[in-house]
Amino acid sequence: MTIAITNSEPRTEGARTFLARRKKQLFIDGTWRDASDGDFFETFDPASGKLLAELAGGTATDVDAAVASARSALGSHEWKGLTPSARGKLLWKIAELIDAHVEELAELETLDQGKSYKTGRFGEIPASAEQFRYYAGFCTKILGTTIPTSIAYQPEGKQIFAYTTREPIGVVAAITPWNSPMLMAAMKLAPALAAGCTVVLKPAEETSLTAIRLVELMIEAGLPKGVVNLVTGFGETVGAALTAHPDVDKVAFTGSTEVGKLIVRAAQGNLKKLTLELGGKSPAIVMPDADMALAIPGIARGIFSNSGQVCVAGSRVYAHRTVFEEVVEKVSKAASALKLGHGLDESTDLGPLVNRKQSDRVASFIAEGTADGAHIAAGGRQDGEFGTFFEPTVVTSVRPDMRLMREEIFGPVVAVTPFDDVEEAITYANDSPYGLAGSVWTQDLSSAHRLAASVRAGTIWINCHSYFSPELPKGGHRQSGWGYENGAQGLENYLETKTVCAVI
Ligand code: ADP
Repeated sequence: MTIAITNSEPRTEGARTFLARRKKQLFIDGTWRDASDGDFFETFDPASGKLLAELAGGTATDVDAAVASARSALGSHEWKGLTPSARGKLLWKIAELIDAHVEELAELETLDQGKSYKTGRFGEIPASAEQFRYYAGFCTKILGTTIPTSIAYQPEGKQIFAYTTREPIGVVAAITPWNSPMLMAAMKLAPALAAGCTVVLKPAEETSLTAIRLVELMIEAGLPKGVVNLVTGFGETVGAALTAHPDVDKVAFTGSTEVGKLIVRAAQGNLKKLTLELGGKSPAIVMPDADMALAIPGIARGIFSNSGQVCVAGSRVYAHRTVFEEVVEKVSKAASALKLGHGLDESTDLGPLVNRKQSDRVASFIAEGTADGAHIAAGGRQDGEFGTFFEPTVVTSVRPDMRLMREEIFGPVVAVTPFDDVEEAITYANDSPYGLAGSVWTQDLSSAHRLAASVRAGTIWINCHSYFSPELPKGGHRQSGWGYENGAQGLENYLETKTVCAVI
């Protein structure tokens, strides 16, 4: 089967105008400029193969300039001098501008990344606006404390007055992946700006368009010069230069565990603070009493949405033996019912993967797994003129030691395995170096909460999967990361505490 590509042209005037300006520059110190060596690289629509834009390929020199700009803006009257209320209003204004351009941004995201228009339009783009709205409210509520101390050695007649203040951590390097580009950028920019930090944003080289558009909207909102700088380019150049830079105070990263480990090493020079949101291999446990009307669509959505390019994708399903056949059959049926096509086509459920390389990678997991005895219950093949599509795939007979079961595939592939008792299910679920998320499907309250407590992961969903909101902390246990994004904890990542202790 070859997927017919129709409706690959954006409908909004905004997206057309944005794409008509083919060359996209860096944004440093309040001005758009070419990379220091004049380099550009191309970015393509993974569904149609069309060239979308040429992006400036930033260099270490550009990173130096962007960091210097962010450093200078950090203490500037225009930024540091803003009242918390004014800072909050600025974040709120950014949210309003995102909402006002939601269709255009969703189209750009679809064209650049491949995802279905509905995923962007009704999910990720409004969720990006919500990040700014949520953190806007924090700006006026960043508080220190006064502390009664028990220090007994102050001079005669004097007393101690002690308090804490909260300060922005400083210059933040925000490095984002290609799966949900706009939302990942918003999840870093919103709390960083709420805390009063300044930022150098490096989007993934595969999907930089909405980051560029977001910066344009931030300028329109009135963000002062140097507060957000944008350096597009490659991980090995721009990313590596940022993470090793002596004047960057913090790196906020979402991406692979492999690159996360490189960042830990690069950051050691000046002991940068790090938040790392890394890979996952999230389990879904289906108990015999699960409500299948919730479980089947929930499990299918949990793995297949965004073609499985979701860090929390429920890629390992463990179903009690009494419901195993039913789960395999019904999830396979749900997989086969999903319509693949260009994301801008309204009838499309799943777009392509981000590029051919990623689709080939997914195919290699399937080829290796089937050669090793895994059985394909649904899907399993690449598709499309450029081989960028991958059929939603259900696999059984996957042994715990297979790469298919151990590594993050980042594609629409789920392994379904039977278990006999709950202890076995917990052992299976925890048999992974990752610990990002998981779901449990049962109508029994006690087993739901006992399982939630037993599965080692940063988020557990009960009778749902991949539910997000800015107020819900999100982070990885074990090799899925360091620290938490979202919620009040998400803001803490961007703040330092200063203790002031005075003899008065
Ligand atoms: P993914 O698996 O989602 O592609 P990666 O970890 O490869 O995730 O990439 C996530 C982000 O990290 C991208 O913006 C990429 O350019 C960047 N990156 C890749 N290599 C490095 C590196 N050595 N140092 C810093 N950032 C990097």
